[in-house]
Amino acid sequence: MKPSILVIGGGVIGVTTAYWLDKLGAKVTILEQSDTLADGASFANGGQLSYSFTDALANPALLKRLPSILLGLDPAIRIRPTLDPELIRWSIRFLRNCTSAKADQITLKLLEYTARSASLMQEFASLCDSGFDHRAAGKLVLLHHNDVPQASRISRIKQQQGFDVEVISSDEARKIEPALETWTEPFDAAVWARNDESGDSNKFVAALGEQLGKRDVSISLGQTIHSLLEDDGRLTGVLTNGHIHNADAVVVCAGNGSRSLCATVGLRLPVYPMTGYSLTFPVGRIPLQRSVTLSRRKVVLTRLGDRIRIAGFLDIGVKRAQPRIDQLRKLALEVAPTVADFSASGSHWTGNRPMTPDGLPLIGKTSIPGLYLNTGQGMLGWTVAAATGAKTARIVMQDFGVEET
Ligand SMILES: Cc1cc2nc3c(=O)[nH]c(=O)nc-3n(C[C@H](O)[C@H](O)[C@H](O)COP(=O)(O)OP(=O)(O)OC[C@H]3O[C@@H](n4cnc5c(N)ncnc54)[C@H](O)[C@@H]3O)c2cc1C
Repeated sequence: MKPSILVIGGGVIGVTTAYWLDKLGAKVTILEQSDTLADGASFANGGQLSYSFTDALANPALLKRLPSILLGLDPAIRIRPTLDPELIRWSIRFLRNCTSAKADQITLKLLEYTARSASLMQEFASLCDSGFDHRAAGKLVLLHHNDVPQASRISRIKQQQGFDVEVISSDEARKIEPALETWTEPFDAAVWARNDESGDSNKFVAALGEQLGKRDVSISLGQTIHSLLEDDGRLTGVLTNGHIHNADAVVVCAGNGSRSLCATVGLRLPVYPMTGYSLTFPVGRIPLQRSVTLSRRKVVLTRLGDRIRIAGFLDIGVKRAQPRIDQLRKLALEVAPTVADFSASGSHWTGNRPMTPDGLPLIGKTSIPGLYLNTGQGMLGWTVAAATGAKTARIVMQDFGVEET
């Protein structure tokens, strides 16, 4: 008999998890609170499949920026201090990770996931007929001269892990991406990641959802899970609006909803929302061929078919989105005026990254038999989704005696 498994959450993490679980022989149901898939952080993110840029957010350089961040003077990162005990606990853990040694460890661990994702993404690209504006054109991370020694050191570590990354001069970067000639962003060098890719995670979720429907996976929308149900120390199912859904196992892939959901059975997850914003416009006069990251500004520019996605900023507790969206638009217009048709009617979006204090996802078994996690992918959820879904499915199915072939 196939084990029946509930996947909570229909974002990029939920659908990839469901895909691998189905492949390993489970009877899978996705329960999603919204009326569409990918309505959370997977809706309009930066679109970068950032296989080689896994650098930990918690690092000594960020620590140096902390005074200006706390004074509200940092344009890229805003924190509105509150007395929320969850945020205080999260922040203490985050700050403990801001050492060079920890940052390297985290970067290396994330590289394991991204290397696996890069190869698994080929399977998804052919399954979905690349119908998510998938593009394998590489990425440039623009650097100021102060950033070059650290970027060179990290690039050497990544090269040792088999990643094709190198620090190049600004002239070389302009040859690789001619659109940079018309930009006003000053930069002295760049990291060139040849094998990084991009794609629209929203379209990907829709395309994969369609494929899942053709298999035996059921997708149930408009289902808010109010609590997880436990009996005799084992997870037995979930409670929606007056309905109990029983299952042999439950996998929580609920992004920022994971913390409150797991709290219903006494589990405390260190997942906190970190807000970002994006703009989408038709491509401009000089379209971008590669993805580009403005590292200090925490902004990415990505070509998605005939559109440009501009995404960025890291905010905690900031209530008003519109001023940040206006700021992002102003910045893009100043820095890269030719990249998009800013006169056309574009769209804007606010999303919350489900962040853990170390930037590593929470994957696998919990202390409650039958309850599994695949959440907290933070800044890199789209990039690592293929790998974390596969890993989670393997762990779950091992408990039902299924080994991956
Ligand atoms: C501005 C911005 C830019 C980004 N850029 C990139 C990028 O370039 N590359 C990259 O790799 N990553 C990027 N990310 C991160 C990435 O978008 C996320 O890590 C990823 O989308 C997380 O996916 P998820 O499925 O865990 O969460 P979500 O997409 O939020 O999905 C979780 C789902 O669970 C559902 N849910 C929650 N609670 C419940 C409940 N109680 N009952 C039922 N359903 C529930 C929600 O409705 C939601 O649909 C970016 C994020 C932001 C905000």
